[in-house]
Amino acid sequence: MQLQSKLPNVGTNIFTVMSGLASQHNAINLGQGFPDFQMSEELIAFVSEAMKNGYNQYSPMPGWMPLREAIAEKANYLYGANINPDTEITITPGGTYAIYSAFTAILQPGDEVIVFEPAYDSYIPNIEVNGARAVAISLIYPDYHIDWNAVRNAITPRTKAIIINTPHNPTGSVINENDVSELRKIVEGTNIFIISDEVYEHLIYDGIPHQSILRYPDLLNRSFVCFSFGKVYNCTGWKLGYCIAPAELTKEFRKVHQFNCFSCFTPTQVALGNFLKNRDAYLSLAGFMQEKRDYFSKLMQQTKFTLQPSYGSYFICGTYEKLSDEADKDFVIRLTKEAGVATIPVSAFYRDGKDDKVIRFCFSKKNETLEAAVEKLKKI
Ligand code: PMP
Ligand code: GLN
Repeated sequence: MQLQSKLPNVGTNIFTVMSGLASQHNAINLGQGFPDFQMSEELIAFVSEAMKNGYNQYSPMPGWMPLREAIAEKANYLYGANINPDTEITITPGGTYAIYSAFTAILQPGDEVIVFEPAYDSYIPNIEVNGARAVAISLIYPDYHIDWNAVRNAITPRTKAIIINTPHNPTGSVINENDVSELRKIVEGTNIFIISDEVYEHLIYDGIPHQSILRYPDLLNRSFVCFSFGKVYNCTGWKLGYCIAPAELTKEFRKVHQFNCFSCFTPTQVALGNFLKNRDAYLSLAGFMQEKRDYFSKLMQQTKFTLQPSYGSYFICGTYEKLSDEADKDFVIRLTKEAGVATIPVSAFYRDGKDDKVIRFCFSKKNETLEAAVEKLKKI
């Protein structure tokens, strides 16, 4: 059989590769972003209760209504947004799927999408599989801020969308109010859509406010705002998320969604609908994860790595110039095999493999795991 690949330049993604290598070498996995500690027992109990109570059949195509209502209430409480749970929220099997569906709803062959690199690895393939072209702009190293003049220069009549991600994977950088006003100036009066990846919404530290697009009605009008329950509630294996978009955009989004997964796993939706009634469910998240960031950063002072600041997400990046001048992809392989700690090379988040010799550590782990990893990293 002959198959013409729709994604000829794509291989197996870096998270799969590094997790595979970690288990092959029995290494501590600070690579792929997932917690190794137990999620909320209360949330687990809600799932089991939902299953026992018979919530085991299809949920409505846009998602379980009490969960959508709880999301709308949270969006209003945190960001002052007035979101209609009936017409503007769709529950999806994860944040990645929400982003893919948003791209698929809006892109036509030949369209261009502005992407900031390092970029989460699904964005560019999602754009290309839809016949569109990713226009990559590098965040400015080493603090990974956006060069808005570069964005202005990259806009063409074919620019269909800009995708932003805050808090940012892999770097832990966040966008501020000034970034939002620059974005506003650029899109005002155009037909450019915004896809806002906010899967780390609640994992933002040092008291910095999350600049959700939901705060800005004029920007929300042209946006698909994508979230993940898996990331913030420490249950990445649940693969559950949602997309908030104005009714007209949601209508198109649901055309794609209804013929893809149609509806998501019902018991977890019922459980989260109950869980989110208590605001502590999300208000306690940042403090917990900030402690992990701080604990890991302190431990890492005993090593030869130099960590960069991280203001959000599960991740913190670091350089290794005191240890090696190898390419980051070679270095992380050696680190996994010889030191027994798996990480992610940041060059994997650049289409052209730009290598600043920076690697990403996931600190969303038990303290014992972080301690054991640092013991190993100290020895190299
Ligand atoms: N966007 C970013 C930036 C991520 O790090 C992730 C990783 N989980 C996702 C989207 C996807 O989330 P999900 O696992 O819910 O698909
Ligand atoms: N978002 C996770 C990370 O960045 C991994 C998700 C995945 O494995 N696709 O590590």
